[in-house]
Amino acid sequence: MSSTNTLLKNINDGNTVYRGLSEKEAKKKLEKFGPNILSEKKKVSALKILLEQFSDFMVMVLIACTLISAFMGELTEAITIIAIVIVNAILGFIQEYRTEKTMKALKELAAPMARVVRDDRLVEIPAENVVPGDLIVLEAGDRVPADAILVEANGLFVDESLLTGESIPVEKSTQSGDKKTESIGDKLNHVFMGTIVTSGRGRAYVTETGMSTEMGKIADMIQEIEDEQTPLQKRLDHLGKFIVYGCLAICAIVSITGIIRGEKVFTMLLSGISLAVAAVPEGLPAIVTISLALGVQKMLKRNSFVRKLPAVETLGCASVICSDKTGTLTENKMTVRKIYCDENTVEVSGGAFSSEGEFFIEGKKINPLSIESLKLAMEIGSLCNNAVLRRTVKDSGTFDKVKKAFSSKEKWELSGDPTEAALLVVSAKAGLTQEKLNSTFVRIDEIPFDSDRKCMTVICDTKKGEIFAFTKGAPDIIIEKCTKIYSSKGIRPLTDADKRLIQRRNNELAKEALRVLGVAYRKLNSRNYDGKHIEEDLIFVGLIGMIDPPRKEAINAVRKCKLAGIKPIMITGDHKATASAIAKEINIASEKDKVITGAELEAMDDIQLQSIVNDVAVFARVSPKHKLRIVRALKKAGHIVAMTGDGVNDAPAVKEADIGVAMGITGTDVTKEASSMVLMDDNFATIVAAIEEGRVIYNNIRKFIRYLLSCNIGEVLTMFLGTLLGLPLPLLPIQILWVNLVTDGLPAIALSIDPPEKDIMMRPPRGAKENIFSNGLLNLILFRGVLIGLCTLAVFISILHFSQDVAVARTGAFVTLVLTQLIHVFECKSERKNIFEIPLFNNIPLVLAVLCSLIMIIGVIYIPVFQGVFKTVPLSYYDWVLVAGFSALGPVVSSFFRVNRKYI
Ligand code: ATP
Repeated sequence: MSSTNTLLKNINDGNTVYRGLSEKEAKKKLEKFGPNILSEKKKVSALKILLEQFSDFMVMVLIACTLISAFMGELTEAITIIAIVIVNAILGFIQEYRTEKTMKALKELAAPMARVVRDDRLVEIPAENVVPGDLIVLEAGDRVPADAILVEANGLFVDESLLTGESIPVEKSTQSGDKKTESIGDKLNHVFMGTIVTSGRGRAYVTETGMSTEMGKIADMIQEIEDEQTPLQKRLDHLGKFIVYGCLAICAIVSITGIIRGEKVFTMLLSGISLAVAAVPEGLPAIVTISLALGVQKMLKRNSFVRKLPAVETLGCASVICSDKTGTLTENKMTVRKIYCDENTVEVSGGAFSSEGEFFIEGKKINPLSIESLKLAMEIGSLCNNAVLRRTVKDSGTFDKVKKAFSSKEKWELSGDPTEAALLVVSAKAGLTQEKLNSTFVRIDEIPFDSDRKCMTVICDTKKGEIFAFTKGAPDIIIEKCTKIYSSKGIRPLTDADKRLIQRRNNELAKEALRVLGVAYRKLNSRNYDGKHIEEDLIFVGLIGMIDPPRKEAINAVRKCKLAGIKPIMITGDHKATASAIAKEINIASEKDKVITGAELEAMDDIQLQSIVNDVAVFARVSPKHKLRIVRALKKAGHIVAMTGDGVNDAPAVKEADIGVAMGITGTDVTKEASSMVLMDDNFATIVAAIEEGRVIYNNIRKFIRYLLSCNIGEVLTMFLGTLLGLPLPLLPIQILWVNLVTDGLPAIALSIDPPEKDIMMRPPRGAKENIFSNGLLNLILFRGVLIGLCTLAVFISILHFSQDVAVARTGAFVTLVLTQLIHVFECKSERKNIFEIPLFNNIPLVLAVLCSLIMIIGVIYIPVFQGVFKTVPLSYYDWVLVAGFSALGPVVSSFFRVNRKYI
């Protein structure tokens, strides 16, 4: 509390120069007060994961049986089985531990950030590094990082429902309010950790952090976000249970039939259990999780951060991407090119980050400061502005020096909204620096910009007692607020003819793909103005048009989308003509596509919207609330929708979308929290890359599910048919376990990182309700599984028939089972092409895993110690021909029947 009191004292003393801490002070405080977190997250216990590997029911039964067999004298076999179980457990452990670690690292990445003033600079730091005494800056959409006391509040509303249960946002101010209770709801000049800024701006000094905050006091009540299972994981869980029961039934039949036929009871019991252990694809959930988690990491490398695992799956189904324009499809590097004022169109040359630029009217160079209306337009643009043009070299700030600083590439930094930064730059080109303007005008109030209102106003005092309101915003909105117009002949009433002329100029500028802002002002009578009616009766000054070039990569990404059957839609707050011009440049819209404005949208009911939504390529001049209607209409029309958003008002639409995409750079905390994916670079191309990655991951999951299940069917069928046909056991328990170890382990994991097939983005999106086995996968699995079983059994029967030696026949069957599976793993690389048409060596880990397995199987049948353990014998030349022939039969038969082709 002492820190709060000191702060309060400073504030009450009228100490209005609000400075933040220095990095050095902050570091000391961080050591003293500790990190700004609620409680240490539970650590992943490696031991727990390891023990879990043995807790599986079937594995426990296997261990028990093995111990019994050890007592009965089968010591070598028992030791080997235990060794195999341990190796299996270690493999499982590595997979799961890696998954846990990856997931934890990803969660840490999602940690919230905070904006603080350190060393007199506004910086973004992880919220956990915020310390008492930090000056934090709050804007609409921010989650408040710590408890703090306000020193500045402009239209600041905070949603405190998390703490108070009160769902209506509370207006905050720098005054403490009348009620002097200690209740949170009454502390109007305080903001609290975890609450959300719904509108306005503010600055506040941090008073408490971590567990000392109000939130800390109720920390136990706050539940941790649970790891969400993806629909696929849930379905696989169900499937897993079904497979377990099915396998158990078959294993029981195998054991009982064997016992009835006079085999040793214990051998049959062990066979049944080993078969069950081998047949149940216990590795499946872990491999699915790791491939999803690895996919998330890969996406991160391509600049998209997936916050919710299910999004990885949904991404592959996306059929529409609704994207913001500014900054996502365009570069968000605004440069003012044209200014229309007093019936003149002034052209401006020079770059976005350069103070070098000239002003022209009809090709003739002019002195921008000699035209009053032009000067005023630029002044309004610079004053009604929260961006900062910051010089990091020392000079006095004259225009010449600014110019020199720009041109000689000395350090100049632009921070804040690029639209506003462009206004500062154009003013600097004319010699109107922020410093100069600030020496004349002092801001006393602000009505912040809001995407719904589409305008912003500041109130300034001239130091001579004159009070002005300066407003800028979307021209259509500004014109409606104006009653007068500024001209060289003085201020006169704004006529309908003036309005039409301004609209015409606005359209002309917008058609050139320029983003246009209108600027206006009014003089107020005194400081006691009526806050509610400031943006009325304004004097129109001019239009400012700025270019924002499309991102180069967006054009390619749009082409890719269209090839992949995904429809890109532009949704923007910008003018219809500007939006159409850009949409045409990047091929989102063609001549025949519809462009709908927010006003037109408003006039439609939901049914009408739904009926036209498939034909619309651009929604212009829309407000965030329209986005929600658009998402719903698209979903109703059967689409899987990815929707981008940045502002606080976008959060509902982002949440409603199948894949909510928040902007990493310009996005607010609230939108990020509502999203399932964050674009680190705000780039449209990144969404397309993520969709591609999503498709690859899902495809790879199908690949290894196909592999694991067909192999397991092969194993079970060999044993089952062998027993039904009254043959001796085709494989011994230890052999079954070995096959399970070498084929189910590494090759399956390697398949999960198989490189993408070339045509992955040339197929239409997957149906959202599509089952993992749909499009013929189940047939493929059954067909190949049966083929593996039949080939193995054929080798067993043939060798048994010719050699009359069960050990040789078993070895033959054993090798065939391994070989057929190792060949089949390559077939699983594609569902559309057969093994002779696909690149076999583009997945090096897979090739190495197969080679390893081959070497191991050769070792097992030729190295004497292993022969003893695995009851194998060397195969003759004739046996090898049989084994090789039947192993190769699978892909040949598959290709012959064109099984893989059938689903193209
Ligand atoms: P997108 O939704 O594609 O990002 P946008 O950035 O144009 O498009 P908004 O930020 O909602 O969408 O802006 C809507 C309109 O408001 C703009 O076309 C512009 O005329 C006006 N505008 C934008 N930024 C400001 C600002 N800082 N101050 C005043 N008006 C602004």
